[in-house]
Amino acid sequence: MQFVPMNCPNCGAPLVERGGSFACEHCGCILVSIADGALAADAEQLSLAEFEKQLQASRRTFPINMGDQPAGMDVDAVLLRERLKRAGQLLSAGEYDAVYDVLQNVPEDVFAAERARLLADCRAEDEIRLAAQRGDITRSPHYARVLALADGETRATYERIAAVCMENERIAAEIGKGMELVELGAAEEALTYARQMLKRYPTHAEAWELIIAAKCIEDGKYSPEEDLRRMSKCPNFPYLYSMREEDGHIFAFHNNRVIQARLEEAEQARFRKKSALSKYLVGPALLLGTLALSFGLWKLFDLLF
Ligand SMILES: [Zn+2]
Repeated sequence: MQFVPMNCPNCGAPLVERGGSFACEHCGCILVSIADGALAADAEQLSLAEFEKQLQASRRTFPINMGDQPAGMDVDAVLLRERLKRAGQLLSAGEYDAVYDVLQNVPEDVFAAERARLLADCRAEDEIRLAAQRGDITRSPHYARVLALADGETRATYERIAAVCMENERIAAEIGKGMELVELGAAEEALTYARQMLKRYPTHAEAWELIIAAKCIEDGKYSPEEDLRRMSKCPNFPYLYSMREEDGHIFAFHNNRVIQARLEEAEQARFRKKSALSKYLVGPALLLGTLALSFGLWKLFDLLF
């Protein structure tokens, strides 16, 4: 992903990219970028490069101000800094339960600690991943505390993220109905519905999964690779799906049975073509070789006797 270099809205220091979001190493401010949902053009008609460009353009950034960082050299400030640092490392490593232990003695009125507890509670490494979750994150007891401790801008960011998570759940359910049509084999209906969903939610990987699966059952010759590549550019793709590619071909997409079956067919077709090719080449090559050898031997006999 490419980002334009930016400066911290708080203190003006240059921002560094950290796993899809921006962070200011000077004051601790984080800028979270969230896809807005709509694209200017029909996603299905866009080239891969154009789709990526439009996805980038649809992103908006929201600030999270970490508040006053513990300063000073007294043992309490040093301890707090180290605990927060360790909590950050544990979040990155996905060791969410350990976050609570390391922050055990940190009071509830430290914003950075409550933020880390909220992320751990929601099983999210950072706010970008938090915004990819489905459901009601305001149910976490730490959500209200984070909002109470945050400044106005930061509060608005978390409210936005909470709204996005609710929206994610609703969209997943709406798209899920299309997948039921696919499962029932209602090819035409599934494809019509899938096109509607993709128009409405082009930045959501689930909408791509649906249209790819619908195309698979509608058209026996459809190859899903190009659409899968577009799908993989969606911001929520890495948190929901896994795809494996080798020798320029996607060969595994175990999240969806219909799509996986089509990929396997394509893989077998490539294998058959390769073995057929070698059969057609190896046969004549062997024949030629034998002929050349016989001719050579005949010449040799000719010379000797
Ligand atoms: Zn800053």
